[in-house]
Amino acid sequence: MNAVELLREVVRIPSESRQEDAVVARLESAMLELGMAPKKTGRNLTALLDGGDGPLLLLNSHTDTVPVGQGWTRDPLKADIEDGRIYGRGSNDAKGCLVAMMIAAAKAFKSNAPKGKVLIAASCEEEVLGQGLEVLLPTLPRPDAAVVGEPTGLKAAVAQKGLLLLEIIAKGRSAHAAHGGGINAVEAAARDVLALSKIQFNREHPALGATTLHVTQISGGDRHNVIPDRCKLVVDIRTTPSVSPDEIIALVKKTVEGEVTIRSNRLGSVETDPNHAIVKAALAANPSGRAYGSPTLSDWVFLKGIPTVKAGPGDSKRSHTPDEYLEVAELEAGVDFYEKLIRTYFAKAAA
Ligand SMILES: [Zn+2]
Repeated sequence: MNAVELLREVVRIPSESRQEDAVVARLESAMLELGMAPKKTGRNLTALLDGGDGPLLLLNSHTDTVPVGQGWTRDPLKADIEDGRIYGRGSNDAKGCLVAMMIAAAKAFKSNAPKGKVLIAASCEEEVLGQGLEVLLPTLPRPDAAVVGEPTGLKAAVAQKGLLLLEIIAKGRSAHAAHGGGINAVEAAARDVLALSKIQFNREHPALGATTLHVTQISGGDRHNVIPDRCKLVVDIRTTPSVSPDEIIALVKKTVEGEVTIRSNRLGSVETDPNHAIVKAALAANPSGRAYGSPTLSDWVFLKGIPTVKAGPGDSKRSHTPDEYLEVAELEAGVDFYEKLIRTYFAKAAA
């Protein structure tokens, strides 16, 4: 099966989050054509390739895409090839990774099959962190290692930042602006914003660098002539394994006057021992690429405790943008990369 033609086909099938049925149907038939036995669980699709006794390696990527959006100079659903680039929504994030994984796994098991099992999981709703890998994973046998297919230029991400979202409510007492008096919640929130901007996290993570904290939303006041009694801040914090969410929350509480509530603490940071066989296999599959820490979220957050690397063809900077593309050469290198990774992982695991 030709990776380029399969990718073009699945790019032509729109698959915004929660609307993956049609693309899942095509991937299911492609798996059958590749000699696999696909299984559908909701809009999640899996296939187990069995080379006998040995470890279980999970290969995961996602079928959904963000909406097409504005600003395209080409048809986002035509998968035209121009100057060696396959253009279309999802070509880079992450249908190219998924197609490359499927074809690589089929090739690896077609001749000289590795001793062990590969489980391919094409999961849905990654872009909304919904009913995808998080709900699928408990129904699967526990993998010994995993690869999350995302566009990394075939470099191996060995750590990934988490997301902690906090809300801060500054409270005051309303009064008529003409009379004065009252307590202005917007002014209280402004003091909190300035205090938060001075927070610095001193323990850097070797791969991920510093924890970052930004006030990204603020809303307060209903009308011009009323001293506002309430102002809300949203704080976006990108975490690393070096500073725990509990420690961050305690620090924020100590820093601000307002009331702190946790909006989301389920997307933790993750990391893998650089000496684990899965990291070594990923590095061996692309000797020119170094291991690195990734600032962006992916379904890896749900694989906590399973040694994982995030790697795949393409460039994360092209994701979610107009004129998203994947180069034909990148896709083909992706197939070779995953096949080599699979073979090296099982060889190292058996050694
Ligand atoms: Zn993605």
